Amino acid sequence: MRLSGQCFWGVSPRNTRGSRPILCQIKACPYVGAVYSGFDARHNAAMLAPPVPEIRIPLSSLRRQAVRVDGPLVDQLGRPLRDLRISVTDRCNFRCTYCMPKDKFGREHAFLSRDRLLSFEDIRRLARVFHGLGVRKIRLTGGEPLLRRDLDRLVAMLAEIPALELTLTTNGALLARYAAALKAAGLHRVTVSLDALDDARFRRMNDVDFPVADVLAGIEAAERAGFTSIKVNMVVKRGFNEADILPMARHFRGTAHVLRFIEYMDVGCSNGWRMDEVLTAREVLARIGSEFPLQAIDRDYPSEVAERWRYADGGGEIGVIASVTQAFCHDCSRLRLSPEGKLYSCLFANVGHDLGGMLRTGADDAHLADWVSGVWRDRADRYSELRGSAQLGQQKVEMSYIGG
Ligand code: SAM
Ligand code: SF4
Ligand code: SF4
Repeated sequence: MRLSGQCFWGVSPRNTRGSRPILCQIKACPYVGAVYSGFDARHNAAMLAPPVPEIRIPLSSLRRQAVRVDGPLVDQLGRPLRDLRISVTDRCNFRCTYCMPKDKFGREHAFLSRDRLLSFEDIRRLARVFHGLGVRKIRLTGGEPLLRRDLDRLVAMLAEIPALELTLTTNGALLARYAAALKAAGLHRVTVSLDALDDARFRRMNDVDFPVADVLAGIEAAERAGFTSIKVNMVVKRGFNEADILPMARHFRGTAHVLRFIEYMDVGCSNGWRMDEVLTAREVLARIGSEFPLQAIDRDYPSEVAERWRYADGGGEIGVIASVTQAFCHDCSRLRLSPEGKLYSCLFANVGHDLGGMLRTGADDAHLADWVSGVWRDRADRYSELRGSAQLGQQKVEMSYIGG
């Protein structure tokens, strides 16, 4: 059944100045608990939709539902919105075989043109809107984020937002050059991706012949710049870099850095993922545990993706991210924003919501916030928990576009 009336958002506490006489679509019946759904694009679509029996209900009876709308922002599975990953470019100077294989991301690949990217001013504005909706952590990612010119300027702009943790994930190739500027601009933490210590194997993994020594130099430069507890992410692919698990553990043991092993995932449609190439987090722990006994420790916060372990002898901490074998969708509090402003509610989504388009058509901040709230409230994603199910779509967004 479709119910309509004057939009209660027009008189909700946040919008008392300008009452907007808009019809909106309400999902489910208000007598059994209506949840507001849709604004603008979806609202317009609803109005264009073929006529269905419509019940016009007076504004007064809708007002009580505004309480629900202004309550805690949770999605269909009761998860709050806490994290935003912003991909600032879809380009990369590596061609990691599990992410941007050369045969799919060669010279002919159509990357986004510069004029389609969100400007830093747009990103700051959206970040403030997300912050107002509960986001407390923003991760800048890509592609390779350090390829975006003057990224430290964006960092400085975002660092002005209070009570917001600001982090960056990078392949480390340009970190030695930019670490000090990023720190000075107010970046809080850095995560460096590093898949092997063996130089030949590392060059094969990044597939652009990039030497491992330069990434290690980037990590050292980040340390010198004042970044503490740097996270180092290693994607483990069976038959490719599993021989590097123990050397990586030995290398980072005894440092303040936290090495995290990530299960190879079926993101995107380019990497030819196969389950038999996933080396599970349990296997990683068994290999490391055979040399260095490990003890489990609590997660820092519920939506933390890594399971944490410490060396029993006090040699520091490692993590495993078991996205394939132990899905953590139940606590997923993340949204992802693409370089040109498409909003993705899941890493494995096949469509993005066009937030950049709304921005460009002149929507005000309240309007943007309403729209994002609608996206989050409608969200029911749990791809990793459903992996393998026949009903899942095949056209998934690429990780190099939307960020890790
Ligand atoms: N270029 C930067 C980097 O590599 O750190 C940031 C973007 S990259 C897409 C973010 C993270 O995603 C990296 O740690 C990368 O290893 C990880 N990643 C990419 N493809 C993956 C896959 N198929 N499975 C698991 N992790 C993946
Ligand atoms: Fe580039 Fe990062 Fe993907 Fe490697 S994982 S190809 S560095 S975006
Ligand atoms: Fe979140 Fe989607 Fe990953 Fe599940 S599969 S943890 S919902 S991003």
